Amino acid sequence: HLYNQVQDLKGTIRVYCRVRPFLPGQLNGQSIVDYIGENGNIMIANPLKQGKDARKVFTFNKVFGTNVTQEQIYIDTQPLVRSVLDGYNVCIFAYGQTGSGKTYTMSGPDLTSKESWGVNYRALHDLFEISNERVDFINYEVGVQMVEIYNEQVRDLLVNDGSCRRLDIRNNSQLNGLNVPDASWVPVTSTQDVIDLMKIGHGNRAIGATALNERSSRSHSILTVHVYGKERVSGSILRGCLHLVDLAGSERVDKSEAVGDRLKEAQHINRSLSALGDVIAALAQKSSHIPYRNSKLTQVLQDSLGGHAKTLMFVHINPELNSIGETISTLKFAERVA
Ligand code: ADP
Ligand code: MG
Repeated sequence: HLYNQVQDLKGTIRVYCRVRPFLPGQLNGQSIVDYIGENGNIMIANPLKQGKDARKVFTFNKVFGTNVTQEQIYIDTQPLVRSVLDGYNVCIFAYGQTGSGKTYTMSGPDLTSKESWGVNYRALHDLFEISNERVDFINYEVGVQMVEIYNEQVRDLLVNDGSCRRLDIRNNSQLNGLNVPDASWVPVTSTQDVIDLMKIGHGNRAIGATALNERSSRSHSILTVHVYGKERVSGSILRGCLHLVDLAGSERVDKSEAVGDRLKEAQHINRSLSALGDVIAALAQKSSHIPYRNSKLTQVLQDSLGGHAKTLMFVHINPELNSIGETISTLKFAERVA
């Protein structure tokens, strides 16, 4: 039945929008979110505009309001995650400006409480649980890689010496999902293994960061889960792959303020996010040419975008009036790929 459930999602691209609440200590101004409809509609109201420009409606597969829990978010993600055990490749992205809740959705605010676990940990937990249920029929092995893409360079985050070697991308369908074959590949058997690895990964990501220039918002991080299953009776093999991607902040950097490294970073980010948008939009339109080659991000994920693969993008917005410009451009980006 799992198989039937995921058939519906095959080849589709889904976009979920999540609105984060006002944060404690923030001035609780009026939210720019005027209304969230049952059918994936969200209405943004701009109190500074008049007439037809004052309100805009956007439509996605789903919209999650500020009171939606981490568990509820995961329930709608679960069928995609589980399909990896049936041999599908899946990409789950978190998109949005810095501070909009990407890391909250993917990792969560606090690992010590399971309630607050994000999609990453819930997904791995689920994969281990289902593979244990199937243990009499299929023997699964699970391994993870974690890389970051910073200034169009791919770096290994699962190294202990902080070296974060630069890596080459090799698109080779024989390797099914292993497009960065030289990145550390670590077998895992429990959610705790994954938590330990992600601590190493997050630690490595912070290297080179300064207060002004927080690295995690300037780079894409990709946690890739490879699943390899062998059916006990027939001996047949299946492979699936799940990419969990916390994207760099989508905010446009003010050209008059950005200089040097900051400007270079901003240009790399803008280019790679638009390359991702172009690829997903081309897939959604069933275009004959999919422009994977335009960024490292789309090259790394090539086997898992399009074809039989499935894509889910969480688009994050915040309710504050002072970022309404970014919010509207985030929603426009998302509508283009939906
Ligand atoms: P990003 O990764 O997009 O930069 P974060 O995930 O770090 O943003 O979120 C920014 C802040 O907002 C953090 O303090 C985070 O805990 C809080 N936050 C984000 N989303 C939510 C949410 N849905 N509910 C409560 N707090 C949230
Ligand atoms: Mg973040």
